[in-house]
Amino acid sequence: MPHAAGGFSAWLRAMRGSLAGGEGMPVACGDCVGCCTSSYVIKVRPHETNALRHIPAERLAPGEADGTRYLVANAKGHCPMFSGSTERDAGCSIYAHRPETCRTYDCRIFTAAGMEAGEGKTMINERVASWRFDYEDEQARREHQAVSAAAQFLRQHVVRFPNGHVPSRASDIAVLAVKSYTVFMDHSPDDAATAGAIIAACREFDAAARRA
Ligand code: SF4
Repeated sequence: MPHAAGGFSAWLRAMRGSLAGGEGMPVACGDCVGCCTSSYVIKVRPHETNALRHIPAERLAPGEADGTRYLVANAKGHCPMFSGSTERDAGCSIYAHRPETCRTYDCRIFTAAGMEAGEGKTMINERVASWRFDYEDEQARREHQAVSAAAQFLRQHVVRFPNGHVPSRASDIAVLAVKSYTVFMDHSPDDAATAGAIIAACREFDAAARRA
């Protein structure tokens, strides 16, 4: 069944704002709990005091020296804070206090990038395939094409990046595509300088987010 994803340009602006540290993304999840049941490891950073107050310490796996800890999915692929008897009638037990990673997760990013969420993530992939963006104008259509082209380039031209380094996780590739899509508004994807332009665009995005 198709699901309305909203206007593409509006979504893209909101997603970039969220990735830069702004508000989380409002997603019409409905009865989908794919992101809570698909074997993700959820990062919980030390400053997330509200989430940490609501997560029992024994459910957090040790993490980094800076105090970052993790919610690690169980053998069924469920987050430790997910509760319920079946995937369709259950949900997050700390929804109002969930970590930032969960607040900024928006599976429409895969639809925007023209890719799936990854192998074995069946429920998410079904939702990804069902989203339908509207286009506010021709520019919105070009932006969607540019995000998809960036994701395709990142997956298909790994050797053009320094040391062949491109993230392997689908979510990381989709994020890079959203950060660097402007490169593909003006450049051909076959341009030899494209890899450098993507790196520069991502650095510029991250620097602007730090200044904000
Ligand atoms: S903390 Fe809640 S929203 Fe986040 S993955 Fe776990 S169950 Fe889902």
